[in-house]
Amino acid sequence: MLLPGGLWHNRQRKRDFCFKPVTGALEFAIAEIAGQGFAMPEAVTKILQLALAQLGGEAVTEERVAELCIADRQFLMRQLQLHLGDSETWYSQTCRRCKASFDFELDLQALPVAEGDENYPFVEVELDKLQLRLRLPNGHDQAILADKTEVEIPAVLLKLCLLAQGREFDVDAFVANLSEAEVASIEQAMEQASPGIVTDIQVSCSNCSHVNPVYLDPYRLLNRGYGDLLAEIHRLARAYHWTEQQILALPAQRRAAYLAMIDADRGMSH
Ligand SMILES: [Zn+2]
Repeated sequence: MLLPGGLWHNRQRKRDFCFKPVTGALEFAIAEIAGQGFAMPEAVTKILQLALAQLGGEAVTEERVAELCIADRQFLMRQLQLHLGDSETWYSQTCRRCKASFDFELDLQALPVAEGDENYPFVEVELDKLQLRLRLPNGHDQAILADKTEVEIPAVLLKLCLLAQGREFDVDAFVANLSEAEVASIEQAMEQASPGIVTDIQVSCSNCSHVNPVYLDPYRLLNRGYGDLLAEIHRLARAYHWTEQQILALPAQRRAAYLAMIDADRGMSH
């Protein structure tokens, strides 16, 4: 599969990746990392490092995952959610106008993905006859921004991503002297150049037709928890006397097949 952005290594854009096969051990580890109280960017880096088999044709390290642009990290977290089999298609929402709860159908896989343009991972902005060059924010930047307030973020982000415009260029002084409108136009240019997945959609209420904004959290996987995993380990251990480690090593499909057989046996004995 291909990333919408990709790693920028040795002046090359490396876009391919693949996930490891799903085992209980992988599901277990994802739930544990998500539950350990890391800041979101750090949890995302750890989970992706664990779940990816290769990234840009190379071995997967936390460093490489942190070098991915934010859009790639969001894309991978959503793809991983689908890879684990969480492809629910029905969502529930409370209408902002009539307060009724309504359901809507959505296929995450069918949502469009915007790819990076020919300048990726860089962005060029023309500002008052000054040509600025920036890079798109990555996982390292995301970790730095995580504890900043909404007011601080634009300036901090620019200082991180603005590339030196010659030797005399003082990034801090330059950013401090930018007007609000200039900051806004740089931000807009970065947003336009960035690859991206869909996180905001509009859905009509089935009761009153009011159009509701709905946020599709790209990091939804962080709330997955153990699900049925512990109960499944318990049932398999009781039936076959395997250790927890042996059960967790099973590919998810085989685990499901054994659980189906246990159910079938139980059906026959009644
Ligand atoms: Zn409504």
